[in-house]
Amino acid sequence: MSASSLPLLNPPGPAPRDPRPGLSGVAPAELERWFVDRDRPAYRARQVADAIWGGRAASVSEISTVPAAVRAEIEAAFRFDTVADTELRPADAGLTEKALHRLSDGALVESVLMHYPARGGQRERHTLCISSQAGCAVGCPFCATGELGFTRDLETAEIVDQVRHAARRLAADERRLTNVVFMGMGEPLLNLDRVLEAVDALNDPARFGLGARHITVSTSGVVPGMRRLTALGPQFTLAVSLHAARDALRDVLVPLNRRWPIAEVVEAARAHARATGRRVSYEVTLIAGVNDTEPDARAMADLLRGDHAHVNLIPMNPVAHTPWTASPMDVIERFAATLRSAGIATTVRRNRGQEIGAACGQLAAERAGEPPAAAVARRRDRLVEESATALRGERSRAAVPAGVGE
Ligand code: SAH
Ligand code: SF4
Repeated sequence: MSASSLPLLNPPGPAPRDPRPGLSGVAPAELERWFVDRDRPAYRARQVADAIWGGRAASVSEISTVPAAVRAEIEAAFRFDTVADTELRPADAGLTEKALHRLSDGALVESVLMHYPARGGQRERHTLCISSQAGCAVGCPFCATGELGFTRDLETAEIVDQVRHAARRLAADERRLTNVVFMGMGEPLLNLDRVLEAVDALNDPARFGLGARHITVSTSGVVPGMRRLTALGPQFTLAVSLHAARDALRDVLVPLNRRWPIAEVVEAARAHARATGRRVSYEVTLIAGVNDTEPDARAMADLLRGDHAHVNLIPMNPVAHTPWTASPMDVIERFAATLRSAGIATTVRRNRGQEIGAACGQLAAERAGEPPAAAVARRRDRLVEESATALRGERSRAAVPAGVGE
C-alpha cells in the first residue's frame, strides 16, 4: 500500500484468477505455433484471429469456421474475453460513457469512452481511456486510483479487451473508435511489457489496426520506462503527468518524484522528442492554492521554455478524501498565459473533467466503500501539512512508494 492510499479500500479480488490467457493478448505467431504443436493446421490461428478482431462471434463456441472438437481445445486453453462483466454509466448528456469492468478474480478496472462530435473541418472522434493496472502504486493524492492503492498488473488481453468492448458498442451504432489513451487506472510504465504487447495488438493492421499516432501512453514519470520507449522508436504519443515544476511540490503530488525528480523526467521527455521528432504532451492538473500560483506558473515556463512540448491544463476533478478543490477558471487562464508568453503551446481543458480520463478510478473507489472517517481525516490533515511544507520549498522526507522504482 502506498503512503497516501487508504486502508482496506482495495482488497485483492475475491476469486482466484482464471489461468487461461485471453486470446486477444496472444501474438499471431504464438497462436499459430499453438495449433501446429497440436498437429492442427496453422490456418486455424487466422480463423480464430478473424473471429476475435472482426467477426460476430461472442464466444469460442460461436466461431463457426472452426470444427467443434478444435473449439473445445481452444476453450480449454484460452479465454475469448477476459472481462467477466461490465457496468455502464453514461455522463455528460451521453457524450461520455464510463465502464466499470469486473475481471476473472473480481478485480475492478475502469475505461471511459468519450465522444467528440464533428466540428469545423474535424471529423467526429471517439476516444477510449483505458486502464493498465487495477489500482496504482504511485499514490498521487488527487487521484481516485492512487487512493485505492495497488492491486495487480493487468494481463495483455485484459488491457486489449477494454478496447474490444468499446469498439463493439460503437460498432452497434456504426461508429468506430478513433483514439486510445492509457490514462485510466494504473501507471502504464510500471506494467510496460504487457502495455507494449497490448499496443502491438491495437496497432497491428491484422488485429485491431489503430494507427500508432492515435495511441497515447501517459506516465507519471517512470524514467527507465520512458528511456525504453524512446529506444523503441516513434511508436505512439507520450504524455507526461508533470503537475508541478518544483521538486518539493511534485514530491507531494506525484510521490515517485522522490525517486525520479523533475530534471530527470523532463530530460527523458526531451530525449524522446529528439529521437522521435514527436512533441511530448505534459499534463498538469491544477489544484486551487496548491500548484496554480504565479511562482509555479513561472517555474513551469522556465522549465519548458524552448522545448518541443505541449501543455494541457486540467482543473482537478473533484475526488473524495482530499482537502483540495479545482483551480478557478480565471486562475487557470492566467497560468496558461504565463506559459504561452514563454512560447509554450498550452491548451486549457474546460468542460469535461473526464477529458483525459481524470474520472478513472472513481467508480472503483465508490464501489470499494467508505473508509473509516478517522483515516480520511488523518489523510486530509497530512496532505494539508505536506503541501504547506512543500510550498515553503522544503523537500519531502517521506519514502518512495513501495513497488515503484528499482
Ligand atoms: N498513471 C498515469 C496514467 C493514468 S492517470 C499518469 O499518471 O500519467 C491519467 C491522468 O489523469 C494523469 O495525468 C493524472 O494526473 C490525471 N488525473 C488523475 N486524477 C485526477 C483528478 N482528480 N483530476 C484531474 N486529473 C487527474
Ligand atoms: Fe497512479 Fe496516474 Fe493516479 Fe498517479 S495519477 S496515482 S500515477 S494513476
